[in-house]
Amino acid sequence: MDKKVFLCGLHQESNSFNPLLSEYEDFGHLKGDELINRGRAAGVIVFGMIEVLKSYGITPVCGSVLRAGSGGPLNSKVYEFFINDTIAEIRKAGKIDGVVVDLHGATVSDKSDDVCGDILEAIRNEVGEDAIISASCDLHGNITEKMVKNADYVSGYQSYPHIDLGETGSRAAKVLCERLDGRNLKMARVALPIMAPAHGYTTASGNLKVLMDKAFKLKEDGTIFDFSIFQVQPWLDCKKVASTVLVIADNEEKAKQVATDLAKDEFRLKEELQGEKLFTIDEVIQKALKNESDKPIVLVDSADSSNAGASGDSAAVIEALLPYKDVLKAAADVKDAAAVERAFELGVGAVADFTLGATIAPKLSKPVLVKGAKVRSLHDGTFERFGPQEKGIFMNIGKVAVLEVGKLLIHVSAKATANGDMNFYRGFGIDPLAQQLVNIKACTSFRAGYQPVSAEICNTSTPGAAGTVLEDLPFEKLPEPMYPFSDITEEMISEAKCFR
Ligand SMILES: [Zn+2]
Repeated sequence: MDKKVFLCGLHQESNSFNPLLSEYEDFGHLKGDELINRGRAAGVIVFGMIEVLKSYGITPVCGSVLRAGSGGPLNSKVYEFFINDTIAEIRKAGKIDGVVVDLHGATVSDKSDDVCGDILEAIRNEVGEDAIISASCDLHGNITEKMVKNADYVSGYQSYPHIDLGETGSRAAKVLCERLDGRNLKMARVALPIMAPAHGYTTASGNLKVLMDKAFKLKEDGTIFDFSIFQVQPWLDCKKVASTVLVIADNEEKAKQVATDLAKDEFRLKEELQGEKLFTIDEVIQKALKNESDKPIVLVDSADSSNAGASGDSAAVIEALLPYKDVLKAAADVKDAAAVERAFELGVGAVADFTLGATIAPKLSKPVLVKGAKVRSLHDGTFERFGPQEKGIFMNIGKVAVLEVGKLLIHVSAKATANGDMNFYRGFGIDPLAQQLVNIKACTSFRAGYQPVSAEICNTSTPGAAGTVLEDLPFEKLPEPMYPFSDITEEMISEAKCFR
C-alpha cells in the first residue's frame, strides 16, 4: 500500500497517590529507524505494529517511543518533550495518511489528568481530520472522550495478566491499515462508572473470562471487527474517569449495539470484580508456618505494586515476618536506595542493623528496623525476565543488596520494577520456590508465572499507594456516581457513541 504512516509512543501508567513524579530518566527512549532495526527488542507492542504495517507494504516513519514502568504522575516536562519532538518529526515527514501510537491510557501529569487525550489531540491538530489515528492501550486505560474524539481507533490489551502486548500492537496497526485500504470501520464507546482493585479479577477465570469469551466469539464469527473491555486503573484521582467498552465494526449501529450489550454484562460483574476478601499479613504467615508442601505461599502485597505505580517502599510485610525469622523460610522485598548504598559500603558478609522502607511515601507506611542483618550478596541490578510477559527482556532495577536475617531473605533494590517476574528474585540468588512464603509486590501480573508453582496465592491487606480497599484511599476528584464509592444503576451506563 502506498501510504505514509507515522509511529510514536509515550507509555506510562500513573498512580496519583505516589508522590514521586516520573522523570525523563525513568523512560527508555528509542527513536527513528532504531525502532525498526532493533526488532522485538524495541518493545513487543511497537514490534507488533511494525510487523503488521510491513505486511501491508508500509514501512512506518518512526518518531520517538518513550516507555516507562508504572510510577507517580509524569513530570509534565516529559510530555512537553515528547509532543514537541513528535510534532517536529511529523512536520519533517510531510503529508501523513495514518498515525499509530503506543500509549498506556492511564497517564496523568502534574499538570493534566488526561495526558493520552492531550497527545492524541495534539497529533490530530497537526495531521488534520483526514488522517487516520490508531492507538494501542493497556487494559487498565482510562479511555476518555477526548481520546476517542481525536483517535479513530483504540485497541486495548484483551488479557490480564497482560500476555498479549504484541498482539495489541498488531491489532492497532491492522485496523489502521484496513481503514487506509478503504474499509469504513466505526468505533463505538460506552463508559461505565465502575472501578475495581487490580488484584480483584483476571481474564483467565470467573465471569470476566465468560464476558471476554463472548466478545471473542463475536469477533471470530465476523459480527464485529474488534473489541476492547477496559477495567480502569483505580489509582487515578481524576474528574473524568471510567471503565469503558470499545467495539469496532463495519457498521455504526452494530458497533453501538454490541458495545452496549457488552457494557451491560460488565455492569452485572461490578461486585465480582472487586475481588474476594483479603487476608491479613498475619493470617498468611500462619498459613505459611503450616505449609509443608514444596511450594511457596504467595503473600500478594499488591497495594505496594510498582506495576500499579506504587512506590514499592513499604516494609510492612518484612516487619511482620521478623518475629518468625528463625522458623519461617521467607523472601520479601523493599525499595530503599539509601539502604542499598549502605550495604555496598559495608560489603558482602558484613552484619549490621538496617532501617528499611518508607523513604518515598512516608505517609503510607513506616520505616522498619532490621537488627543483625548479614549482607548476603550485592548486584548491579540487571536481570533477564523469566516471563511469560516480555520473556527474555533485560531489566535494570538499580543496585540490589540481598540481606539475610535468620531464614528471612530481604531483596532491597534502588528502583524496583517487574516485581512479579520470577527472576526478580532468582536473578539475585533467591529461589522463590524454595521458600515457605514469598512476598510479591504485584497485583495480578505475577500469576502468569507463579500460579502453577505456588501452594496458595493470598491477596493480602497491606499499606501502599495501590491500596486494595479503594474506599480507604485519599481520592479528592472522583466523579459521582462511581462504584464502589456509591451505588449505581444500569441507567448510569453511558449511551454508546461513535465520535468519528
Ligand atoms: Zn495494566
